[in-house]
Amino acid sequence: MLNDKNIETVQQLLHSSSPKKIVITTHHKPDGDAMGSSLGLYHYLIQLNHQVQVISPTDYPDFLWWLPGNNTVWEFPETEEASKQAIAEADLIFCLDFNNLGRINEMGEVVRQSNALKVMIDHHLNAEGFENAAYADTKAVATAELIYKFIVRMGDKEKINLDSATCLYTGILTDSGSFKFNSTTPDVHHITAELLEIGVKPYDIFENIFDTNRLNRLQFVGYCLLNKLKVLPEYNTAYITITKEELKQFQITTGDTEGLVNYPLSIKGIKLACLIVDRTERVKLSLRSKGDIAVNEICSKYFEGGGHKNASGGHSFKTLDETLQIFLNALPEIKVQLQ
Ligand code: 5GP
Ligand code: MN
Repeated sequence: MLNDKNIETVQQLLHSSSPKKIVITTHHKPDGDAMGSSLGLYHYLIQLNHQVQVISPTDYPDFLWWLPGNNTVWEFPETEEASKQAIAEADLIFCLDFNNLGRINEMGEVVRQSNALKVMIDHHLNAEGFENAAYADTKAVATAELIYKFIVRMGDKEKINLDSATCLYTGILTDSGSFKFNSTTPDVHHITAELLEIGVKPYDIFENIFDTNRLNRLQFVGYCLLNKLKVLPEYNTAYITITKEELKQFQITTGDTEGLVNYPLSIKGIKLACLIVDRTERVKLSLRSKGDIAVNEICSKYFEGGGHKNASGGHSFKTLDETLQIFLNALPEIKVQLQ
């Protein structure tokens, strides 16, 4: 169900004659939907003559750097002082593709302290409730779908230009698993059709995102599938763990492990897939499931995380082996659902 709390207030502010200071932010390690939504909204808001700054809490994968407007984005760790100032002085802060401030690391408290009107546009479960205004729907396939609907709701559909449409298409493409998830409704295809009418080039976008692998990244996938993929037939579960040494050996950077968790899930009969990666500052865990297995519950119970019913993430500050053990210990609890 759509939560459109105080959306008229947002409309009045956006349409008022005085330009507003606006910050757009999105979650830790932004993905295609996070950056596509942020820049899709950016290309709309600058047409209303507002002063707009996109701030990412961390770096993000190089397969997103081609997005129109990418060169205007600030990464918080590199622009800390200027970012803090922009957040403190903002009239509006758009929080896209996340629903709790823990998802933007140390930026979270800076946003919380700001007097700006905080507008959350998001499609995840279990919202914290930090926002003053919202345009949120957990049934939406992507936040980019909601950005499209939000701009239409503002009465500004004609302001979705080619740059904005390209970014929004990217968000929908990546978060829908290339239009395959059941949340890809007829409505989503209608929106996509409108984006194509505006001039979006689907193959160019697909190629920029999916056909730009480095050789070492592809070899890393091969290595993981051959040496690291473990199957637990008793639980219809499969998992991959990756050590710091392996990340180094294959020169893995942000984004290179994206999509890897889908390989264990693609094995016939597997209902639950897990990827655990020993990143520098924390151990990152990704879960994917089929059918009725709610992985967001496992992530929030054991890994300070969440997300969607069939796709969630979390982290731990324990070792890789301990993190794996927590995951394995949770399996008997959901054994019945895994059969
Ligand atoms: P991924 O496994 O690809 O990192 O994330 C899958 C889904 O879970 C995404 O929708 C992402 O936003 C969400 N997610 C990933 N990590 C976290 C986390 O630490 N906390 C929360 N609340 N959601 C997460
Ligand atoms: Mn999303």
